[in-house]
Amino acid sequence: MSEEQLRRLRDCVRPFPDFPVPGVLFRDISPLLKDPAAFRTLIDLLEDHLRVSHPKIDFIAGLDSRGFLIGPSLAQRLGVGFVVIRKKGKLPGPTESISYALEYGKAELEIQSDAVEAGQKVVIVDDLLATGGTMYAACELVKRLKAEVLECLVIIELKLLKGSEKLKSIPFYSLLQYD
Ligand code: AMP
Repeated sequence: MSEEQLRRLRDCVRPFPDFPVPGVLFRDISPLLKDPAAFRTLIDLLEDHLRVSHPKIDFIAGLDSRGFLIGPSLAQRLGVGFVVIRKKGKLPGPTESISYALEYGKAELEIQSDAVEAGQKVVIVDDLLATGGTMYAACELVKRLKAEVLECLVIIELKLLKGSEKLKSIPFYSLLQYD
């Protein structure tokens, strides 16, 4: 992974102040998806990282909703399956659900009960880690199905919010870090 590759990816992340609420600096990855060369570089780098760090992965699990934009491409490259972790009320059939605290209010995530089996090895992906609450809840869901979370993987980490500390001993990796 070169500095030049990371710089090109960083150039494709747009900051939007005060979105969706005042005080939040939203990091928009739309330009990264719009540029096929940049998107290929993104998937290349994530694939290289996972091949080295975790040679045996059963599933990539994507977080609703921007985890869905990178997870399937990454899973295809690795030759593994992709499963979804969705916001409440979107998944048919038996599900496991977990509610967790947001900065203001609460949210709920769900996974289909047969998405992964006991003992299977899962990497959870999303676009961004802020407080870590969403990612931590997703890890709890995967663990409830008795699967193993090998790693939490994001494109962007907002370092000042210390979200990776919330994940405790679960391995965490981010490509781009912002204060
Ligand atoms: P958190 O649970 O606080 O770590 O929030 C992470 C989730 O919220 C991810 O699914 C992100 O897509 C979204 N998110 C939180 N903060 C931002 C931000 N500043 N820019 C873009 N997305 C964000």
